[in-house]
Amino acid sequence: MRPHTKSAAAFAEARRFIPGGVNSPVRAFRGVGGEPFFVERAEGAHIWDVDGNELIDYVGTWGPAILGHAPRVVRDAITDAASRGVSFGIPNPYEIEMARTICAWVPSIEKVRMVNSGTEATMSCIRLARGFTGRDLIVKFEGCYHGHVDALLVKAGSGALTHGQPDSAGVPAALAELTITLPFNDVTALRSLFMARGSQIAAVIVEPVPANAGLYLPREGFLEVLRQQCSQYGAVLIFDEVMTGFRLARGGYQERCGISPDLTALGKVIGGGLPVGAFGGSAEIMDQLSPDGPVYQAGTLSGNPLAMSAGLAQLREMDRVNGWARLEELGAEFENGVRFALKKAGRDYVFQRIGSMFCLYFTSGEIWNLADAQRSDKAAFARYFHACLEAGIYFAPSQFEAGFLSLAHTPADLAQTAAAATTALIA
Ligand SMILES: *Cc1c(COP(=O)(O)O)cnc(C)c1O
Repeated sequence: MRPHTKSAAAFAEARRFIPGGVNSPVRAFRGVGGEPFFVERAEGAHIWDVDGNELIDYVGTWGPAILGHAPRVVRDAITDAASRGVSFGIPNPYEIEMARTICAWVPSIEKVRMVNSGTEATMSCIRLARGFTGRDLIVKFEGCYHGHVDALLVKAGSGALTHGQPDSAGVPAALAELTITLPFNDVTALRSLFMARGSQIAAVIVEPVPANAGLYLPREGFLEVLRQQCSQYGAVLIFDEVMTGFRLARGGYQERCGISPDLTALGKVIGGGLPVGAFGGSAEIMDQLSPDGPVYQAGTLSGNPLAMSAGLAQLREMDRVNGWARLEELGAEFENGVRFALKKAGRDYVFQRIGSMFCLYFTSGEIWNLADAQRSDKAAFARYFHACLEAGIYFAPSQFEAGFLSLAHTPADLAQTAAAATTALIA
């Protein structure tokens, strides 16, 4: 067994002062049992815990670390910006650079506003859509996670799903009633909802590639029908690309699928590891925001120079090295390793991947929605997770989270991972 006495002591101490010992629930390892480790430092694709264990990391701070941990360009950008002040609360040139970059890379975004998290981004999209349409109903899909916004914590994914609370306590029933949920990939359910209530729907929010209940893809035509129905009934289509934005392509998943949403929520990669989110869309809708329009939205630290420069440095580096093409290659190589491991172990588990995002479901058959994902054998996943951790491989501590590759993962990392996965799957 690897040593973990220091992490155990830290966790005991943390639990005295922090609910559950963590500042975000999935970190507590409840989905797999056992206790979390505490990090001493992280660099590239590797993490060292406080007991001195080295791990190959496939969580990447839940998505943002697309270049790997602590990349030079990002550290330099932060240091440089910090030397001139860490926050102003006054417009600064970094904000324009960031906005210009987002608008150039994501054509559906004509104007964009910066916030401090993905949750803030989706929350603001919902309010803006309601203000713009003058309607109240929101539609979301089962298993999609859009942050911990009251109206969106209905049949949600990620930590809410891991902890068996897809509907949170503390969300007023009157508010939850304004959120309608549909199964993902179900065109018939979508059409009949619009037929019945289309004129009351303010917005449909969707993860175009749902990655908070594991990982599954939109069926051919599903997003097209969604786009068409929203346009026909005047509902705002919101793509939540907090996870997929700047990860699956320079212009997000919308670049790959060729569908333009009305609003897009961004986060994670855009901040280079600092707390950043953004939301944007057509100028017509975005101009409804205060101070130009009647929809209020604000933020003391929004657009602060450290976060903007860290995010910009990361985005520019990805662009400079054409990181997305390289990640696609790495993803294919990783997939080969996992498929080889599955074959060797004689398992017919479902491995899903798109670009640098992946998930191994401990079940067979096809996975197209939350109900399919929930067939996964969570006890088997937990055993696999712990066997990999013991072998120095860190996957997300829940069946319902996606894994991430970064540009810092080397062929040696992938080979070591495939070997460990093979052993873990056989056991
Ligand atoms: C992570 C995530 C969020 C929430 O972002 P936070 O920064 O954690 O608030 C929203 N939507 C999706 C799709 C996400 O993956």
